[in-house]
Amino acid sequence: MQIPLVDLQAQYRTIKQDVLSAIEETLESMQLFLGPQTQAFERDFATYCDCRYGVGVATGTDALALALRACDIGDGDEVITVANTFIATVEAIALVGATPVFVDIDPETYTMDWQQLGSVLTSRTRAIIPVHLYGYPVEMQPVLEFARAHELLVIEDASQAHGATYQGKRVGSFGDIGCFSLYYSKNLGAYGEAGICVTNNEILADKLRMLRDHGSRERYRHEILGVNARPDEIQAAVLRVKLAHLDQWNTARQLHAQTYTEQLKNLVEALPVVRSGGTHVFYVYVVQVRERDLFRQILAQEGIATGIHYPIPIHLQPACTTYGFVRGMLPVTEAVTENIVSLPMYPELTTEQLHKVVDATTKYATVAVERPL
Ligand SMILES: *Cc1c(COP(=O)(O)O)cnc(C)c1O
Repeated sequence: MQIPLVDLQAQYRTIKQDVLSAIEETLESMQLFLGPQTQAFERDFATYCDCRYGVGVATGTDALALALRACDIGDGDEVITVANTFIATVEAIALVGATPVFVDIDPETYTMDWQQLGSVLTSRTRAIIPVHLYGYPVEMQPVLEFARAHELLVIEDASQAHGATYQGKRVGSFGDIGCFSLYYSKNLGAYGEAGICVTNNEILADKLRMLRDHGSRERYRHEILGVNARPDEIQAAVLRVKLAHLDQWNTARQLHAQTYTEQLKNLVEALPVVRSGGTHVFYVYVVQVRERDLFRQILAQEGIATGIHYPIPIHLQPACTTYGFVRGMLPVTEAVTENIVSLPMYPELTTEQLHKVVDATTKYATVAVERPL
């Protein structure tokens, strides 16, 4: 039995008929962009996120970059975020001409350490991008208080946390704009590329709608210079089918995570932490192990895939050398990067598969204990 990190075929089998008829309906209409599917998805996803407006875009990277542009963030501005994230968070900042500034992370939740925000604040700081990483919500209250005190905008990168809540509210609804990737492997994913911004601010929603479609409200009249980041009707049709299952899929992920957490307790160095006030939707299930190569090798021998999210923090990426970031500037991020490993996680995981992962981890723990450090 092979156990992949994510099994999209297993999920497809459960929704195939609905997906195929939604795609067929869209093709019959031949309205392939900005049509009824997109409008319905935008409305339903915004409502799902406790927000008034949803603006679909082509990718999660577009969602972030257009959110920054809608907030007039660009040349000379600084945006605070974390280096323990997917590169797109930082690419979006660079794309609009702003400069990324990093704070370190909480060693238990792997998300933004809000206590460090003050130490990187300058007169050029304009915004904060908290990243709800791995499916776990950033502690938003102190982030929002800091932003309010210093007149900063907050753009949430919720690309890994569709449906996660903090203090009873969905992520994406706390900041000025919430950004989601709908990349095919995310908790809510298209069968291709897609993204969406949610907001309660009508002016920002209107600007996002223009920016994604060449800066126009009206055909061939361009009020601002935008881009082509239009969402695709076929993807919106697929996403509407999937959105109806999202809560149930997230619950399944939470149950699998609970099993892992109970069974792996004494076998690995660190397990995911869920603090009161937040719900985790386990886009990935990340543990820390002392001997990661050995761990991955033993699991691979049993046919179990593992991943690393992410092996190189952004400040140490070759693409970022021009910024002059140095090793040592984010000690917690750098330390956890050495030991984190992601286990198979998807709603359709079976009890048998979960047990296999636990058994393989038990094997690792036995071998690791016998080896000198
Ligand atoms: C996936 C992801 C993105 C980018 O989304 P794309 O749809 O691939 O452009 C941005 N931020 C985070 C944290 C992500 O995981």
